Amino acid sequence: MKKIQFFDTTLRDGEQTPGVNFNTKEKVQIAKQLEKWGIDTIEAGFPIASVGDFEAVKAIAENVETMTVAGLARCQKADIDRAYEALQHAKHPQIHVFLATSPVHMEYKLKMTPEEVIASIKEHVSYAKTKFEKVQFSPEDATRTEKNFLLKAVQTAIDAGATIINVPDTVGYSNPTEYGALFKFLIDNIQSEQEIIFSSHCHDDLGMATANALAAIENGARRVEGTVNGIGERAGNTALEEVALALYIRKDFYQSESSITLNETKRTSDLVSRLSGVAVPRNKAIIGANAYAHESGIHQDGVLKNPDTYEIITPSLVGVNENSLPLGKLSGRHAFAAKMETLGYQLNDEELKDAFKRFKSLADKKKQVTEDDLIALMVGQSQECNETYRLGCVQLQYVSDGSQGAIVSIDTGEETKTESAIGSGSIQAIYNSIDKILGQKPELKEYYIKAVTGGEDAQAEVHVTLADTENNRQFNGIGIDFDVLQASAKAYVKASEQFQKEVGKA
Ligand SMILES: [Zn+2]
Repeated sequence: MKKIQFFDTTLRDGEQTPGVNFNTKEKVQIAKQLEKWGIDTIEAGFPIASVGDFEAVKAIAENVETMTVAGLARCQKADIDRAYEALQHAKHPQIHVFLATSPVHMEYKLKMTPEEVIASIKEHVSYAKTKFEKVQFSPEDATRTEKNFLLKAVQTAIDAGATIINVPDTVGYSNPTEYGALFKFLIDNIQSEQEIIFSSHCHDDLGMATANALAAIENGARRVEGTVNGIGERAGNTALEEVALALYIRKDFYQSESSITLNETKRTSDLVSRLSGVAVPRNKAIIGANAYAHESGIHQDGVLKNPDTYEIITPSLVGVNENSLPLGKLSGRHAFAAKMETLGYQLNDEELKDAFKRFKSLADKKKQVTEDDLIALMVGQSQECNETYRLGCVQLQYVSDGSQGAIVSIDTGEETKTESAIGSGSIQAIYNSIDKILGQKPELKEYYIKAVTGGEDAQAEVHVTLADTENNRQFNGIGIDFDVLQASAKAYVKASEQFQKEVGKA
């Protein structure tokens, strides 16, 4: 059995999904869950990109134990220095240096000649090696790079001290046959005294990201890069949960294994979905809501007689329906704390006290409090701790011409502002009031609502995406509440907070 390392870039490439902006606390929370899931290396961010990115990489480096923490850097000394600074306290630091090698990137983006690109790789990988033991190099847009030049770039990086070579299919252009052959070509032709780990990094533009990653593994890659739920630029990245399950279910074929704790998969997916505001499609492999639903009578009959007839993955294998012990009104603090710990939350006394209070008020309204409810509760708590705008009261009035009126107040940190507005429906009236308070005019790009759990007493989870049409930017927000209108208002305020930070007042 070959051991395949899992490299998660949910917080770096995944955060490049339109609308996704994790704050530091959310990033640390995701990082801890990824560690529990069994990820070997996390790409925590791009430290030189912003102060926020730097702080998040630093916080993750200080808060995880076993995972290697990587920071991204261009071939520039300042990038490498900044990554070094952010990763100083990591138990297992790693740097990820990249430079594009395809003709179109070199000529139009970098405006560098091939010789200059090779010289830059040599200079900057050598420099990175003086600061980091583990140096990873990526020739960006590798799959559209001339093969022999790619080999030259990779060999230059290895000679300069890189021990991990990542081969990105940056634009999702490759296919399994071609991508696998590229790994074989590079692995067969590089010269090295020490062991070099080859890694895949695929995008899903043609729907082949997972297939390409598996083809790389078949051809000698020992590491796979990707994200949870496959989030990322454009069509997204390789979904790591798909690769983990493919290796497990088809170990007869791949002869490979990973450190992924499969029954933590659903939890990891749920957490990333909630914090990113990006919903998992119902038919998504492994973790979609319909992935284990059997509709046709013949299939249902077969599964009842023997699940093996139509089910290659049992839901419990990936942690679906693991809500074995829901909590209720009478559950004590001890049971609550124990449950939170199994969910991966290490709460200090103060946080536990606050969370328990929230749990009690939830249990008053809901018969059974499931894991999903608890995770939703913690998402709400973490949002409130980080928010600049706090939603105050929301009042609705029927206006005689058939429209709705709303009065909303928001505590902006400096003052409490109240405004009223009308709309053709309740939600529009609330949103118009919020826009008036914040002096903004974003475009409401997306609004959808789902129930956190099944049942009539379920909490509502509302997702809102706001867009700034001028700059083509998007901002997601999520709100959870028993009341649909309250949840809608919370989600809008949350998305507005990001909108205000990045775009400012209209
Ligand atoms: Zn990428």
